[in-house]
Amino acid sequence: MRGGVASRRELLALAAGSVCGMVPGPGAFARAPLRRHGIPKPERAPLLRTVVIDAGHGGIDPGAISPHGIYEKTITLATTRELARLLEATGRFRAVLTRNNDHYVPLPRRVERARRAHADLFLSIHADALPNASLRGLSVYTLSDQASDRQTAALATRENRDDFIAGVHLFRQPREIGAILLDLARRQTNNQSLMLARAVVDELGREVPLLERPQREAGFAVLTAPDVPSALVELGCLSNPDEERLLQQRAYQQRMAHALLRAIEDYFAAAIPA
Ligand SMILES: [Zn+2]
Repeated sequence: MRGGVASRRELLALAAGSVCGMVPGPGAFARAPLRRHGIPKPERAPLLRTVVIDAGHGGIDPGAISPHGIYEKTITLATTRELARLLEATGRFRAVLTRNNDHYVPLPRRVERARRAHADLFLSIHADALPNASLRGLSVYTLSDQASDRQTAALATRENRDDFIAGVHLFRQPREIGAILLDLARRQTNNQSLMLARAVVDELGREVPLLERPQREAGFAVLTAPDVPSALVELGCLSNPDEERLLQQRAYQQRMAHALLRAIEDYFAAAIPA
């Protein structure tokens, strides 16, 4: 499937009429030097997967606010930093953060950063607040064209409206890209995004409670990169008293970060066999 990722980028670059866009990914093959004896043996260069982690909200945009005044943006940043540290520590991943402190980053810029970094994967980290305080648990979203139920639609609207706070247009107009090629790339990406979401539900489900139907779809603007498998994780519900307390705890954040690391490793093992 690794080749599929490269093909998708190439297709997009060709469609955009830009050969410059055909940048070999980190999984490109490198030739070993000729041996003095025997047949030259091509070897795989060390693979370093680029994982872009997006701490939701930031700066003037606090995200959800718990009954005791805890900001979603604080929890997402702390968990994101922990996950980045774990990813880098494996030596197999390069972690790129869309923000590494408390400042506002417009949603389209987060997507752009992922694409510029040639991300192999994009994970946006959030925490939810629901009208019903008894509800608790984690959920994971991938992109859909239509938010299919009211809860999903309300959440998607709220997240997208965040971008409107700074008066930034939500969607970036695409360049003149062939619609069919883009659609093909989009379908491939969607399939891989679903694999990623499933891995997150499987691994996190062993550690923390899950919302009912934890794997969902919505129209989040931050998931719209056509060539980067993407998912958005709602770590829990700040509106629930138990999760409000837990989500603030360093140990709980670390537990979730460890489970997210395992999910990312599961995803690459399934999507891109060694
Ligand atoms: Zn959020």
